[in-house]
Amino acid sequence: MDVGTKYMYQRNPNDRPNNLQRPNPNGGNNGDGGPPRSSSSRLIVRTLIVVGLVLLGWYMIQIFTQGSSTSNANAIEIPYSTFYQEVIAGRVKDVTFSGQDANGNFKLLQTVVDVTGQNKSGTSFHFTQLTNGDPNLTTLLNANGVSYQAKVASDNSVFLSILFNLLPWALVIGVFFFIFRRANQGQQNIFSFGKSKAKVIMEDRPSTTFADVAGVDEAKNDLVEVVEFLKTPGKFQKLGGKIPRGVLLVGPPGTGKTLLARAVAGEASVPFFSMSGSEFVEVLVGVGASRVRDLFDQAKKAAPSIIFIDEVDAVGRQRGSSINSNDEREQTLNQLLVETDGFDTRQAVVVIAATNRPDGLDKALLRPGRFDRRVTVERPDWNGRLAILKIHAKGVPMGPDVDLVAIARGTPGMVGADLANLVNEAALLAARRNLDYVTQYCFDEALDKILIGAERPLVLTEEDLNVVAYHEGGHALTGLLTENVDPVTKVTIVPRGQALGVTQYTPLDDRYNYSKEFLESQLVTALGGRAAEQVAIGRITTGAENDLQRVTAIARQMVARWGMSERLGTISFSEREDPFAGTSLATGSREYSEKTATIIDEEVNRIVKWAYDIAVSLLTTHRLTLDRIAKDLRLHETLDARQLRKILQDTGSIESAPLSYR
Ligand code: ADP
Ligand code: ZN
Ligand code: MG
Repeated sequence: MDVGTKYMYQRNPNDRPNNLQRPNPNGGNNGDGGPPRSSSSRLIVRTLIVVGLVLLGWYMIQIFTQGSSTSNANAIEIPYSTFYQEVIAGRVKDVTFSGQDANGNFKLLQTVVDVTGQNKSGTSFHFTQLTNGDPNLTTLLNANGVSYQAKVASDNSVFLSILFNLLPWALVIGVFFFIFRRANQGQQNIFSFGKSKAKVIMEDRPSTTFADVAGVDEAKNDLVEVVEFLKTPGKFQKLGGKIPRGVLLVGPPGTGKTLLARAVAGEASVPFFSMSGSEFVEVLVGVGASRVRDLFDQAKKAAPSIIFIDEVDAVGRQRGSSINSNDEREQTLNQLLVETDGFDTRQAVVVIAATNRPDGLDKALLRPGRFDRRVTVERPDWNGRLAILKIHAKGVPMGPDVDLVAIARGTPGMVGADLANLVNEAALLAARRNLDYVTQYCFDEALDKILIGAERPLVLTEEDLNVVAYHEGGHALTGLLTENVDPVTKVTIVPRGQALGVTQYTPLDDRYNYSKEFLESQLVTALGGRAAEQVAIGRITTGAENDLQRVTAIARQMVARWGMSERLGTISFSEREDPFAGTSLATGSREYSEKTATIIDEEVNRIVKWAYDIAVSLLTTHRLTLDRIAKDLRLHETLDARQLRKILQDTGSIESAPLSYR
């Protein structure tokens, strides 16, 4: 019934991803850039059009202003004396004075010597008046029939011409600024305009303690060290011990990850800075990265302190895994990597991140020195559920008939948040009925309400639980009675991830080489789940799908890759696949004939059938033990190695267990 009888094989420490570039430590922007962005080329075309239009407009304005301007660019600059001569000669039509400047037109096209001594032809001229004016000028102009007028120098047209001259420049500069900014948004934000937009992160000193968190003892134990470090960072540093820096809390929603992080801060009485991953990946490019920076800056200033990043998967998803890669998210992730790397070892800042989807996380996040500590927060078993119920029932007056043990037993699969909600609903029902305290009936009603509600928690029926108990019992018992297999350390029917139950084996050493006997034992124990369903219940369920995939993969590799079939002989048909990946083999390039393929299939079938028969016969012989394990699993939900051994002793099956086990 489990999708994944869990094997805790050590990963090869050298197996680090090397395809991911380290982020540039002083920029936060990895230089390799993203995929080509077609939108950016469209942007360039659009801005070119805008620039062209602006330039065109500018030219038109120029022509317009020239026409009406007092200072005509085509006018010949003539000396004052020449102007006098031309007037006397009767060749000047009109003149306009504005301040020191004077502009005028000849009656006809005229060739004159200009101020630089050159001959110039034109119909209009400009000259500069004498500083103190010329009292005879008007008389002279009147005498020669020249029409004249005066204009105030600081006239509207001057102002307008200044405006018309500056406006295009302002536009051009504006457009360039715009392009520049757009171009930079894909890169690092050199204007760092995110700074002011970053939310002020409130310093928070939670009063939550470990006493407020129940049912997740393993996670609590893992976090005790972090608390110790934050309380007395000096002690750790003096001893040169490895300082915890990044902790990744992994678990289904509502199991208390946020609560645990706050409890760590509360226990160590240090400030708690929190932000959710989805808050980082917001609106403007560059804001996320600057928020990360602000967050870390604040926390460092307040050290010792805790930074909590909820929903880290929102930022930490594998880079480049989707087609339309999100620059903003990658930039934020890079900043996060830079910041977690950038801690001084003297700074007592611990980063705790939480996620319920650890699989898709960017591998760079999980490297040593970053979030290399993983704390799993499991769904609670019934003891845990009872403890959680007690915590939440504390402030609520309970009637004498309330049986928290029965409630805990009746809510398999529920997590802390579900139970908190259950107590709350029961209290609301009691209030609605004007009761002085919550009765068992209120709890029953509240449970019904929650179970038919929209967000139905994972609660299995009695019948399903029975099947799961026998299935996992079968895995565990075959594991206990088989030689050459890793010891069974724990079996549980508390759902984990996709799995409805899990049997855990812990390898004694790291294994890099598997013997044929080890692999055969693997097949027997993997088939133990389904065999138990057949032996004890008489019908089989779909719950063994994952087991069967694993079994088929191992058997196939034994035959086709490791030459473990006598019929085919010691030949490898070079099918490379992780033997424990549980995936079916690729049917890509085959290097053998149809006939060989048929023999491989037959051999795989034979081996699997052989292993299944062994499992069935083991479980039939030890049926009483199987029943007992299933019963105890229903009762306790989780059995550890000690409890399992006790059962074997009680039922006499211990005699059949491998010597190492007795
Ligand atoms: P997560 O962050 O894992 O989604 P939370 O920490 O936000 O879960 O839990 C939500 C609420 O549910 C908590 O505030 C608390 O009231 C309750 N709760 C969850 N887990 C536990 C627990 N293990 N012990 C006590 N209360 C819990
Ligand atoms: Zn199974
Ligand atoms: Mg949470």
